[in-house]
Amino acid sequence: MAWTERHRLMLQEMGIRLWAPVTEPALPAAQAEAPEPVPPKVATPLQAPVQASTPDERRAAIAEMPWPALREAVAQCTACSLCQSRRQTVFGVGHPGAHWMIVGEAPGEQEDLKGVPFVGAAGHLLDNMLRALKLTREEAPPERQVYIANTLKCRPPRNRNPEPEELARCEPFLVRQIELIRPRLILAMGRFAVHSLLRSSEPIGKLRGRVHRYQGVPLVVTYHPAYLLRNLADKSRAWDDLCLAAQTVEAASAPRD
Ligand code: URA
Repeated sequence: MAWTERHRLMLQEMGIRLWAPVTEPALPAAQAEAPEPVPPKVATPLQAPVQASTPDERRAAIAEMPWPALREAVAQCTACSLCQSRRQTVFGVGHPGAHWMIVGEAPGEQEDLKGVPFVGAAGHLLDNMLRALKLTREEAPPERQVYIANTLKCRPPRNRNPEPEELARCEPFLVRQIELIRPRLILAMGRFAVHSLLRSSEPIGKLRGRVHRYQGVPLVVTYHPAYLLRNLADKSRAWDDLCLAAQTVEAASAPRD
């Protein structure tokens, strides 16, 4: 990946060092033919990010990032203490132009191990729910392949609830993912996803059953699959939520006359 000087400066401002080359203007022929310096085989450990910018500047920088810079910024993020206990960050998975975007809470143990969201028991249930709607996380056209992301990109220790400070620091990443994908529907699963996207502290039971809006994108609220594993009685309500979401996508995709 070649970075532009602008991206490099933006990331540098956020305390993130890049190992990929910056795109340079073309060199004069003699210099261009000089042998390239051999890159070191082992990357030097990453520098601890410097808290050089204010939260607003950080948010503004993230808001301009294309996918590769965003992925790199997440991978190297040290904006909260979760970076000390994580094995790796969990960026998100799926079609970058997906019609459906699914937003969960935070990586658990399996996700932290594999670097992929929803790969544990809750993920298995989510995959089954998606399959019932002919949706998938596997490669497929954007109307079938969803995009899955979490409000937090790092696992909270012992799967504790996310702290408000952690949610606030991580939020710009999710905001940018939504902007880049521009989904036709967001399915917000569980109270942390719902509360960060809708800024509402109402219980899920009060928010589900209707279509909300997030930055103009229709948003449907439903229970978190981990909750459904413990509360089977609410599975039929979750199914109703998925049907509402499917109808909403269908209506948004119908040709207008
Ligand atoms: N629960 C979540 O909210 N996200 C995951 O990625 C896994 C479990």
